[in-house]
Amino acid sequence: MSGIQVDQATRRLTRRPDVVVVGAGIVGLAAAYELAARRLRVCVLDGAEPGAGQSSRNWGFVRQQGRAEEELPVMMEANQMWQELPGRLGADIEWVQGGNLRLTDQPQRVDEYRRWIELARSYGLDSRVATPGEVTALVPGFTARYELAIFTPSDGQANPVKAVGAYTRALGHLQVDIHTGRRARRIVTAGGAVAGVATDGGFVAAPTVVLAAGTGSGALLRQLGHPVPVHFVDQTVALTEPMPKLTDACVWTGRVGFRQTANGQVLVSSGGRGDLVVDPASLAALLSPRQVRQAVPMYWKNREYLRIRPRQLMGSLGARHHDHLDGEMRYDDVAQALDAMAEHFPALRWQPATAWAGTIDATPDALPILDTVGPSGGVVVASGMSGHGFGIAPAVGRIVADLVTTGTSHHDLQPFRLRRFVDGAPKAPQHLL
Ligand SMILES: Cc1cc2nc3c(=O)[nH]c(=O)nc-3n(C[C@H](O)[C@H](O)[C@H](O)COP(=O)(O)OP(=O)(O)OC[C@H]3O[C@@H](n4cnc5c(N)ncnc54)[C@H](O)[C@@H]3O)c2cc1C
Repeated sequence: MSGIQVDQATRRLTRRPDVVVVGAGIVGLAAAYELAARRLRVCVLDGAEPGAGQSSRNWGFVRQQGRAEEELPVMMEANQMWQELPGRLGADIEWVQGGNLRLTDQPQRVDEYRRWIELARSYGLDSRVATPGEVTALVPGFTARYELAIFTPSDGQANPVKAVGAYTRALGHLQVDIHTGRRARRIVTAGGAVAGVATDGGFVAAPTVVLAAGTGSGALLRQLGHPVPVHFVDQTVALTEPMPKLTDACVWTGRVGFRQTANGQVLVSSGGRGDLVVDPASLAALLSPRQVRQAVPMYWKNREYLRIRPRQLMGSLGARHHDHLDGEMRYDDVAQALDAMAEHFPALRWQPATAWAGTIDATPDALPILDTVGPSGGVVVASGMSGHGFGIAPAVGRIVADLVTTGTSHHDLQPFRLRRFVDGAPKAPQHLL
């Protein structure tokens, strides 16, 4: 620990935490909340501020629909937790349980969708094929052409900014300090144990660290000797001017994803398309022969959605470090999403009010990393949410709290192990697109 500056202000503020959470996105906040609810002394560090990364920039879909089998039980628990969250956090987070409607216009995908419905039903989920009449009832005036529509009524949506704000305020009530502008530089170990976190603003001592830094987790894990093959995807989102009532469902057509917010605005995104960016911290892990073998089929399966722009890719490789909180905006994606909305709703005029981009941290199998690493298992990792982390966050928070307090979880965490990228059989993403 020599050479580490102890920041008195940090010491005083944190009141000697039992756990330091790195990252105040929805995953770190949910973890801190569950830990503090179990009466642990918790402090949260963020290089920027709560929700600065993906957690305030996402679509706000809280969906079980389309998830990989491994993730489904965790997401189903998260769905139950979302239903209780407004009451637990004492805040309006615009939670609406309006279902998730997903269409495919690709005949070759129909069997895949039907198989997923069977899988979901075997877990007791209320997913089903939706008839054309049901689709019209769910989204009146919607004229999209499709081969098959599937619907999960128990799915929902929430306002990401309000959800982050609600967790942040609830943590304040639980006496949890959130230090903004405190970038974690290194997780410090000493004498076979975790000692704490070295930050921009000094050292925070704690025996346990929760790593929930989203796009920032890779660099910290690599320092601990765990290079992770995480890649980033920049995605653009737009919000329209308020529209007449369209639907309570979250809808995804392959060309566009949308949901209507509480004030009538419609959040639109061009169906999940994004630009591939490489995290320099993950480069060596990504270029291992095993990952290259896995990446090619993964890219091929998702080539409709995952774009490679050579200049952007080269730029990302040249950078020494990426914060990657805001991503690079694609105005052509905004135009494409609004064109799709105009085609799907010919009677309506679509005007964008604002747009933004975000950067997704994704693993090769699109499953999160939920694991315990470091000396004496003192580092609990909750990262690599692969574009699904808003919905699943409450349950991930509970898993983290279980790992910290008991070392186990009632969920099977085998599929989410960090070392699966090294010792497991390579696996392509199994979620539905
Ligand atoms: C455009 C877009 C649409 C999406 N849509 C959905 C959706 O509809 N449904 C869904 O479930 N998911 C969606 N996602 C994914 C979801 O938003 C993320 O999986 C989730 O927000 C991840 O939360 P997080 O807390 O892990 O990461 P983040 O929200 O990215 O938070 C990480 C935090 O860590 C901080 N940090 C980073 N490095 C450091 C460091 N070294 N020290 C201290 N702090 C650090 C950052 O400042 C940041 O605040 C979407 C994502 C994007 C970008």
